[in-house]
Amino acid sequence: MGKYDLIVIGGGPAGIFAAGHAAQRGIRVLLLEKKPRCGAKLLITGKGRCNITNSEPDVRKFAGHFGANGKALLTSLYAFGVQEVMDFFEQRELPLVVERGGRVFPARGGARDVQRVLDRFLADSGVEVRCSSKVRELVRDGGSIAGVRTSDGEFQGRAVLVATGGLSYPKTGSTGDGYRWARELGNTVIEPQPALTAITLAENWTGEVCDLNLRNVELKVLQGGCVLESRFGETFFTRDGIGGPIVLDLSNTVRDALSLGKVTLELDLKPAVEMQLFDKRLQREMADHANYDFRNSLGNLLPKAMIPLFIRLSGIDPDKKCHSVTREERLKLLELFKALPLRVIGCEGFDKAIVTRGGIDLKEVDMRSLRSKRIDNLYFAGEVLDLDGPTGGFNLQVCWSTGYLAGVSAAGAVLNEKSSDGSMEKTEIS
Ligand SMILES: Cc1cc2nc3c(=O)[nH]c(=O)nc-3n(C[C@H](O)[C@H](O)[C@H](O)COP(=O)(O)OP(=O)(O)OC[C@H]3O[C@@H](n4cnc5c(N)ncnc54)[C@H](O)[C@@H]3O)c2cc1C
Repeated sequence: MGKYDLIVIGGGPAGIFAAGHAAQRGIRVLLLEKKPRCGAKLLITGKGRCNITNSEPDVRKFAGHFGANGKALLTSLYAFGVQEVMDFFEQRELPLVVERGGRVFPARGGARDVQRVLDRFLADSGVEVRCSSKVRELVRDGGSIAGVRTSDGEFQGRAVLVATGGLSYPKTGSTGDGYRWARELGNTVIEPQPALTAITLAENWTGEVCDLNLRNVELKVLQGGCVLESRFGETFFTRDGIGGPIVLDLSNTVRDALSLGKVTLELDLKPAVEMQLFDKRLQREMADHANYDFRNSLGNLLPKAMIPLFIRLSGIDPDKKCHSVTREERLKLLELFKALPLRVIGCEGFDKAIVTRGGIDLKEVDMRSLRSKRIDNLYFAGEVLDLDGPTGGFNLQVCWSTGYLAGVSAAGAVLNEKSSDGSMEKTEIS
């Protein structure tokens, strides 16, 4: 049984940052990861490009993206913020680029390069990494944690840091183990729910147009005739619904609303043009194509792959000449362009959720150190905490920031303990 100053459980971005920064303070750190290598989820982030962070410069605005819990993030963000993250990667020869909406990506390459930088960081910091080592339980010793029991033995630790992630994409290793341990230790876990997911729809035609990326569109969430939220940006249809950045960001609202009743979406394919003006545009198209069959009249308005669908949904006879399209028929067509109604069945589950909503209750964690208020040598970092933000690099920034703060806090506490019990001197003499 090995003895360490700090045992970090989970080799995702939060655990890696915690372990590396703690080890740099001069303590002996063991990082345990149950998968054959660290950062499995990281590799699929940003569709393989890894949206490392978001360049939002205002710390309070950044925290505001995490709703009511955002305030609790401030100490972590001040300790290791967006600029520090960007410097971290750029100083390690990974140039970054800021894209639409402040999304920060590696300028070349992608998630694999991020993983490479993190592997080197762990090695340079002197962290002992054990992969394929699954922690089964935390070993308790009165009011503290004595160590961990794993699939390949027991390890003692002066402090233990849980960075096991949430429940989303469980194939990457995040299976909610940290929640179970926290509950067993008496911590409250806010009910985990899938967040940032695609939405399933009752429409049976979505698969016909699922190869299309729809940019600069607006999607609204409606319930009982009221618009609950809307987003402008990019979306795409999937085989059984709708996905893409704006859908992910609306999915939490949809999920909440579904618990109260029926929810519909409305897609505006031409949000830059107001309804009446677009009707004029349609009239012009019909006039310009007066002697054409209706089926051949929409080429200037829609991607080719969507035309057959729109013709069908409009109910207008495709062989009818455009000059015979009635006002009523045109208004129906107008509605398809400006307010295409979509009936929501539900939101995808954990298998396809980008993050987990809920987690370790922040009220029971000292957010200035990320130390448990119940167990004095237990720390938490990353998605295991009750923190979830929108798409755009916000969620990874939470991992870097809380990982850093938890790691250096744990290292500080261990160093204090060692200097007060004299073991530091002993180590130095031996
Ligand atoms: C498809 C997808 C794309 C995403 N894209 C982005 C993006 O571009 N930008 C962004 O900001 N966020 C993105 N996210 C979210 C982001 O990846 C997560 O928020 C982040 O990975 C959470 O980091 P973490 O270190 O807390 O946990 P994780 O990355 O989940 O890591 C936890 C680790 O703990 C290990 N572990 C769990 N239990 C045990 C155990 N018992 N013993 C040992 N090890 C254990 C797991 O194997 C895992 O490696 C994306 C998520 C997904 C699913």
